[in-house]
Amino acid sequence: MTITAKKALLNYLEFLQSNGFICLDSDPLEALGPASGGGPGAPSAAHARPIVVHSAAKVDASPMTPPRPRNPATTSGSAGAAVPSAPSAVPGPPPAALRRELPQTWGAHLSRAERIQWIGDATARAETCRACQLGAQRNKLVYGDGDPEAKIVFVGEAPGGDENETGIPFVGRAGQLLNKMLNAIGFKRQEVFICNTLKCRPPGNRDPFPSEKAACEHFLTEQFYILRPQILVALGAHAAQYLCRSELPIGKLRGRWHEYRGIAVRATYHPAFLLRNGNFKPQSWDDFRAIHGRYVELNPGDPRPIWTK
Ligand code: SF4
Repeated sequence: MTITAKKALLNYLEFLQSNGFICLDSDPLEALGPASGGGPGAPSAAHARPIVVHSAAKVDASPMTPPRPRNPATTSGSAGAAVPSAPSAVPGPPPAALRRELPQTWGAHLSRAERIQWIGDATARAETCRACQLGAQRNKLVYGDGDPEAKIVFVGEAPGGDENETGIPFVGRAGQLLNKMLNAIGFKRQEVFICNTLKCRPPGNRDPFPSEKAACEHFLTEQFYILRPQILVALGAHAAQYLCRSELPIGKLRGRWHEYRGIAVRATYHPAFLLRNGNFKPQSWDDFRAIHGRYVELNPGDPRPIWTK
C-alpha cells in the first residue's frame, strides 16, 4: 500500500471509529506499518499486524464506503481501492491518542477539490440508499447544498415537497425566508452549507420516525466530517434535539450555545414555523445575531455587516 493510500485509510478508519461505526482491536497506525513507505530496514508488509474491525454501529448504518478515486493520475492506490485521495503535501496524522482528542481536525486536511469529490461520492451513495423506507418513496434525494468550505452549516429536519421536486434544500417559502435571514447577518446562501437530518422526504411531510433518523445519521455525520464547520445551526426541533442530544423542546434549546463533537451549535426556530408564527421572529433574530457574533469572533479578518434598523 502506498503512503498516500495509507494516510487516507488511516484518516477514514479514525473517522469510522470516532463515530462508533467500528471498533478496532489494534491501533491502525501500527497495523498499517510505517508512514515512511518502507525504506531499507523498515518492517515489511508481512510484519504489519492485521486490522481487526468489529461492527459497533448502534444504528442500521448502510455501508459507508469512502469515495472512489476518480482520477487515476491523482491517486496511487491499486485498482478498485476505495479510499479518498490525499495530496502528497498532507502532513502525516498525529499520534492516535491525540487524534481521538481532536475532533475539530475533522476534514481540516481536505482540500476544496477533495471535499467536492467526497461530497459527490457521498451523494452517489445516498442516491442508491434504501436503508429506510423513504428511499423508495422519494422523488429526488436532497443531500445538501452550498460551499464545501463553509464555516457555518445549517441543518433542517427533512426535505419538503419543493425540495423533493428539485433536490435542493430550502427552496420554498421557508427557504426564501432563510435566505433573507442569512443576508441580514452578512451572508449569501452560497457561502454556507444547508442540509437536513434526513436526505429523503417523509410522505406528507410527517415527522421522521426515530428509525429513519438513525438510518440516515451516518450521512449527516459524514457531511460534518467533510465540511468541518465552525458553527452548526439547527433549524427546528428535530435538528436541535439531534445536534444537542436532548429531548427538550426547541423553545428551551434555543437562546444558548451547545456543542456537537467540539463544534459550536446554535438551535433556532425553523423558517417554516416562523412563517406560521411571525411573533417568534424576534427570538430567531436574537439567535442569528448570536451566530453572527460567534462567526466574527472566530474569523476576525472576515467582518460581516449585520443588518440594523
Ligand atoms: S432517508 Fe437517509 S437512510 Fe433513508 S433511504 Fe434516504 S438516504 Fe437512506
